Amino acid sequence: MSGSAAGNCRKPSCANAIPAALATEQLCLDHFLDEAFQRTDTTFDRCRKGAPMQPGDLEWLLTDALAVVKNLEEGASEPDAHQRDRMLELLLILANLHEYVAHHSVRLDRPA
Ligand SMILES: [Zn+2]
Repeated sequence: MSGSAAGNCRKPSCANAIPAALATEQLCLDHFLDEAFQRTDTTFDRCRKGAPMQPGDLEWLLTDALAVVKNLEEGASEPDAHQRDRMLELLLILANLHEYVAHHSVRLDRPA
């Protein structure tokens, strides 16, 4: 792996580099965190209202968690306190969401 060959964030008017761990998302860390927090918010809302989870929801739960862990590892040598806090917070929320799904036997919207 040779540095940050992933290019720049796909958000308009954002010139931040994409960390290697987010190459598939094509997002810089800040924008990835923004979107991830939004995803968890929406999903928590839906769960509380008793709406079924989509099969894809569990996939991004895992993908997001993995991406955060990878980013934490990569940034370990040059930690940005604010981003680190946000990543740790996101991990906590993702873990809670996982717990929630497990304990409330949230229905999975799966074709029979
Ligand atoms: Zn960005």
